[in-house]
Amino acid sequence: MRLALDEAALAPRTGDVPVGAVVLAPDGSVIGRGHNEREACGDPTAHAEVLAIREAARAVGEWRLSGCTLVVTLEPCTMCAGAIVLSRLDRVVYGARDEKAGAVGSLWDVVRDRRLNHRPEVISGVLPEECGRLLTDFFRGDPDPRSGSAEGAGEGTDFSARPSVR
Ligand SMILES: [Zn+2]
Repeated sequence: MRLALDEAALAPRTGDVPVGAVVLAPDGSVIGRGHNEREACGDPTAHAEVLAIREAARAVGEWRLSGCTLVVTLEPCTMCAGAIVLSRLDRVVYGARDEKAGAVGSLWDVVRDRRLNHRPEVISGVLPEECGRLLTDFFRGDPDPRSGSAEGAGEGTDFSARPSVR
């Protein structure tokens, strides 16, 4: 999750919402990284998870990421939850919940829908305060969200004051 947070911190350089993701191979090595590049690329599908999954598939040499784990700072949206299922990832680990658009337990639970053949394991709430603080600081306009400011602390993952992250 620390690596995913490092990725997330790169996004605001291009005005992108700070969400970061990494894909881990079965042996624990990092085979994919991504941060939100929607603004940077003008691409509505350039979410951190999709970019990390694409890089991992290139590293593996095929589209199946069986045995791999996706770690992402924010609960995936419906598109990314779909990509997670389609890539056959074994495990999803995320930090902050997204009450407004989350598709891994909040608004929907796409990856654990019993009608699907492939259902990855889900581990949520890993470093949720740190993951959420990047977002709250970004929407507050803090130019350096990792400057050590403690102002965002204690707000949990309540992003109600901001428009939808996605
Ligand atoms: Zn997404």
